[in-house]
Amino acid sequence: MRRATTVLTFLATGDPTGLKFTVEYGASRALFDFGREHAPGRALFSLGLEPRPGRELDDLLAIGMAPRLEGLYRDWGGRTSVFISHLHLDHTFLVRYLDPAVPLYYPAAMEELRAACAGAGLVPWRTPAGIGIADRKTIGCGEIEVEFVAVDHDLPGATGFLIRTPDLSLAYTGDHRWHGLHPELTEGFAEAARGVDVLVQEAVSLAPRDAVAPEVAAAQVERLTEAAVIARFEELLGRARALVVANLYPMNRERVSALGRACQKSGRMLLMDPQAAVVAGWEEILGDPAAVAADPSRYCVALGFHSLPTLIDLRPPAGSIFIQSDGSPLGIWDPAWTVLLAWIQMFGLELVHLASSGHSRSEDVVRMVRTVAPGLVLPVHTRAPEALEVPGIARLVPVPLQPYTDGQLRSLRA
Ligand SMILES: [Zn+2]
Repeated sequence: MRRATTVLTFLATGDPTGLKFTVEYGASRALFDFGREHAPGRALFSLGLEPRPGRELDDLLAIGMAPRLEGLYRDWGGRTSVFISHLHLDHTFLVRYLDPAVPLYYPAAMEELRAACAGAGLVPWRTPAGIGIADRKTIGCGEIEVEFVAVDHDLPGATGFLIRTPDLSLAYTGDHRWHGLHPELTEGFAEAARGVDVLVQEAVSLAPRDAVAPEVAAAQVERLTEAAVIARFEELLGRARALVVANLYPMNRERVSALGRACQKSGRMLLMDPQAAVVAGWEEILGDPAAVAADPSRYCVALGFHSLPTLIDLRPPAGSIFIQSDGSPLGIWDPAWTVLLAWIQMFGLELVHLASSGHSRSEDVVRMVRTVAPGLVLPVHTRAPEALEVPGIARLVPVPLQPYTDGQLRSLRA
């Protein structure tokens, strides 16, 4: 009988989103993340084009936005388990199509947000939902062991993974950052992963040498830490005299509640539209906009892109402020960006950027690689994998659908 060997395959390397990969050993296969590419104005399904009702999965399979793997969507067959790092759609969109028999694992700390988003229809989820796994717990998938190790990202319940097979150790960072409110989690992951054979490194913020990545240009107009964004909320609300409107990312529950607290301190109430409020776990809902229009200095209204027409009813008076704080669209690379600017201009709002990316800055990507000190690093979830250079550490830019055996991966070590 042939000896079993570990095989690592990227179904999508994430350019810059939609990363998914499998680790196989013998008869077992672990699949990590199962989302859909988010690239407005570039992806085939974007700008309002959606898979057609009743044949969504077939449409996604036909154009390669869902991977063709047996035993995932039907007829499980006992081979594959699925592991989810966090709730963002570029990591979870396809979960809704999983066969009910496929073992599905995600961080327990994600459950409250997942249930809220599934209930609000924002992130439809498979039934049964799967199993929430506590931090630092290990799940077996045949002879593959998968340990959940939390990281800090811009939503509750993000994790990385340590993956061990009989012949190889891997770490997958998941989406993470060092400048959030919980850097000790990211640091703990780096410690736990130290010395692995292979590091699969999320690297959204890496920029090609001659260009600034759109994500960086947009989300880091001024590079702020999450704590600095929160402090700026307070300063801004202290000086604001008219209506304040904020475009937030509702899944970032910590930022929403921080803005809510800052509002309270300055005698305002933060109001959200009903769906965003469910996602954010926020209780105060925007009811009749006329009530806000009658007394604008007592309110801060959170409006997402699709709620911008509500500005017509809110009638923001002179001196009103629009805070762009990581709600979609994230930047000029999204065709919706100029539309957002047109609304802001139409109502004469002062635009204030208070943003803090959920992703490690490029120097922190390097810091992660240095701290983990793997035998080999594979930069993924980025447009510029070749920009990752860490002296003394071998790098492989993985090719989609190319299987890498443990022998090949080891031979590439520095
Ligand atoms: Zn992501």
